[in-house]
Amino acid sequence: MSELTAVSVTVSAVDKFREFLLTKGMRLTSERETVITAVYATHEHFDADLWVAKLERRKGAPRASRSTVYRTLRLLEEAGLIRKVARANDREVYEHDYGYPQHDHLICKKCGEMTEFPNEAIAEVLEKVAAEHGFRMSGHRLEVDGICAVCSRPPQRVHRKLDMI
Ligand SMILES: [Zn+2]
Ligand SMILES: [Zn+2]
Repeated sequence: MSELTAVSVTVSAVDKFREFLLTKGMRLTSERETVITAVYATHEHFDADLWVAKLERRKGAPRASRSTVYRTLRLLEEAGLIRKVARANDREVYEHDYGYPQHDHLICKKCGEMTEFPNEAIAEVLEKVAAEHGFRMSGHRLEVDGICAVCSRPPQRVHRKLDMI
């Protein structure tokens, strides 16, 4: 997966989340903070189930219970800080969406691999389409389905010519 350069933001994701929770009359508990900090530590598409298991295994680091993690992920999604990205096997795959440039995904239907790519031309075309409909576009998500380069490679055949001589 390619790493895009993060864009600088004035308000941290944690602060944004704290503000969002306040509007719901909720607090940023240490467990919720553990979840958002872990989510924002890397830019990685993460499968919720695998990621929760990883968080549970962490030693010495602050932990959060499984149910808190799932509930917090829902809240982060609602706050617009992470978004769900579809995947071939229908598992819940998220990525964080704040302080990160607009990008789209190529999704392999065979192995589920997601490749990110930024493309200005796509955004421009969509802006144009939106304008034609008097639609004020605030963003877009584009998922391109297909088979990745690795999966479309023919299976490696072992050369046995020499053995046959
Ligand atoms: Zn693939
Ligand atoms: Zn992505």
